[in-house]
Amino acid sequence: MPETTRLCAVEDCGGEHEARGVEPGLELCGWHLDRLRRDLEVTPLLVRWLSLHTIPSGGGAEPVSGSREPAAPVRLDVLSMLLPGAVHPPPDDEDQVGPPSIPSTLAAWVWQVCEERGLAGPERWDDVPQLTGWLLPHLEWCAARPWADQLCTEIAALRRCTHALVPWKVHRTEKIGVPCPTCDLQALAQIAGEEYIECDERVGGCGRLMRAEEYSAYVAALARATPESAA
Ligand SMILES: [Zn+2]
Ligand SMILES: [Zn+2]
Repeated sequence: MPETTRLCAVEDCGGEHEARGVEPGLELCGWHLDRLRRDLEVTPLLVRWLSLHTIPSGGGAEPVSGSREPAAPVRLDVLSMLLPGAVHPPPDDEDQVGPPSIPSTLAAWVWQVCEERGLAGPERWDDVPQLTGWLLPHLEWCAARPWADQLCTEIAALRRCTHALVPWKVHRTEKIGVPCPTCDLQALAQIAGEEYIECDERVGGCGRLMRAEEYSAYVAALARATPESAA
């Protein structure tokens, strides 16, 4: 019997369509591996961004339940992502359990890789850039592990929760007039500070990620392909 194509292990891979196929030996499709790399690369940026927003804007503050103290002059939801704490929240249950801790989530996965590969890990286990820098070279290896989908989901949750807590909308630049090379839709956008241009699924895009240099080369090729429209 011929071997059937293995599908990506991430639960919602492909959305309404069938899950994407994987390379032999891998658990993640190329689309999710790209996404995992992007989501991991931006974690130091998430920390920097959240650090700027630990004080509530507009003077409002979160009440501390069961206390006569004045409301805490800090955003506890933001702090809970910045400080060591909760790891492995159920992906769609952030409201109930609070947002995940970025350093603890990263440290748990670094620990997992250290255990399985017999490695020592980074010098500091509470430093997000160090944890991220340590984990990145192991991503291809991680993509072949039976827990790869869980890694992918949890790292994605860090970026998603950060964006939900402190929206980055104003820092999002739409790439007007440049169609996506994959789906041809004008849905490309970039978030300030991120190296990636993304085909935004929220406006019907396909979710493709391009690094900045890949995008520049693509735009240059587009311009060369349509010389008659050059103004
Ligand atoms: Zn996938
Ligand atoms: Zn697209």
